[in-house]
Amino acid sequence: MKKLALHWKIIIGMVLGIIFGFIMNTVDGGKGFVIDWIAPFGKIFINLLKLIAVPLILASLIKGISDLKDISKIKTMGLRTIIIYVGTTLVAIIIGLTIVNFVGPGKGMPQETIEKIKLKYENDAGVVDKLAKASAQQDAGPLQALVDIFPSNIFTSLGEAKMLQVIFFALFVGICLLLIPEKKAKPLVDFFDSLNEVVMKMVDLIMLFAPYAVFALMANVIIAFDDTTILVKLLKYAGCVVSGLALMIGFYLFLIKVYTKKSPQWFLNKISPAQLLAFSTSSSAATLPVTMERVEEHLGVDKEVSGFVLPVGATVNMDGTSLYQGIAAVFIMQVIWPEGLTFTNQLVIIATALLASIGSAAVPSAGMVMLVIVLESIGFPAELLPIGLALIFAVDRPLDMCRTVVNVTGDATVSMMVAKSLNKLHEPKPKEWDDHYEAVK
Ligand code: ASP
Repeated sequence: MKKLALHWKIIIGMVLGIIFGFIMNTVDGGKGFVIDWIAPFGKIFINLLKLIAVPLILASLIKGISDLKDISKIKTMGLRTIIIYVGTTLVAIIIGLTIVNFVGPGKGMPQETIEKIKLKYENDAGVVDKLAKASAQQDAGPLQALVDIFPSNIFTSLGEAKMLQVIFFALFVGICLLLIPEKKAKPLVDFFDSLNEVVMKMVDLIMLFAPYAVFALMANVIIAFDDTTILVKLLKYAGCVVSGLALMIGFYLFLIKVYTKKSPQWFLNKISPAQLLAFSTSSSAATLPVTMERVEEHLGVDKEVSGFVLPVGATVNMDGTSLYQGIAAVFIMQVIWPEGLTFTNQLVIIATALLASIGSAAVPSAGMVMLVIVLESIGFPAELLPIGLALIFAVDRPLDMCRTVVNVTGDATVSMMVAKSLNKLHEPKPKEWDDHYEAVK
């Protein structure tokens, strides 16, 4: 019998998880059952993905850079990556702002709805937590983000999974490996090559568990939605975000077709397991190992490109998040601060949403924390901030799931483009988890 493709297995797991979640919502004690007995399996899966993310970045980047054999190529690759990342993010914000201004989802929202939302969410622990995190972030100086890239203790960076610090260290090691005699470099290069192979195999094995894990993750998401009346009221706003995100996917497919000359359908087919995981986990960081595996083994991007472009992208390139921030900021203004809706403020939103998406962590809900900073940059009244966040809080999780898909797809697209431009895009050679199983069984 022909094996069912992985993405179909994951989709089946997701659909069953959603149905199960809805059923459990109606059963007495159902929620508790999902929380105690189902959700932990989703958590285990995310833990496993996070577990291998750091060794994977380290190994593939060090090995990749030492394979480049030419330091000037690193500069070219770095520059192209950053330019394309900034370019796609700007496109995303502009799409977002155009839609929200055109549709005006926040205009004419009944006062009674605003009051209801305010009452329910203004003091919600989630909203309070986002505001606290945003203010902690703001207390840092303007160059703190730069300082944070340079670690003082690599073991702390590895332990705390500080992506940019790990990337910096790996680049540093990779460059120095190029600068010492080849004979001396070889043992370390071989070590990281071997580590890279092992971690990639771990991704294959972890993915065998993915269809069951997404079942657990989706069931857990569904049981959190008990009040659908507010969701319905926010449908127009959510619709704006989702259609903007869909346009962004269309834009990536266009880039794939025009620039890399590959078929968009082929691209979607290969990258879909990573997209589905992004959707179920709401975290580009947790999805990173799978994105790397798909891009290297199934899309044919060489390690030296994917090992740099993808981890950097997971941290700094968040097109979905910046599109969402643009829409959410204007939507909130349309509802509670219409006098702030000036052209200049929208220009400021473009700049700050760009920076905010770079500064957002690749974890669930990080986009909402940075939204506070976007709003503050245009002088949004501080006393209205909790109400502003309350307005969008109810639909944040589903939108987070969708924007994470765009974040991950954007990273994969850019890695294809950078690889193509450096002649590092090749015929993919997928590996199966059991390639050598027969020999060791
Ligand atoms: N969850 C998103 C990500 O990990 C970030 C966000 O928009 O909240 O990519």
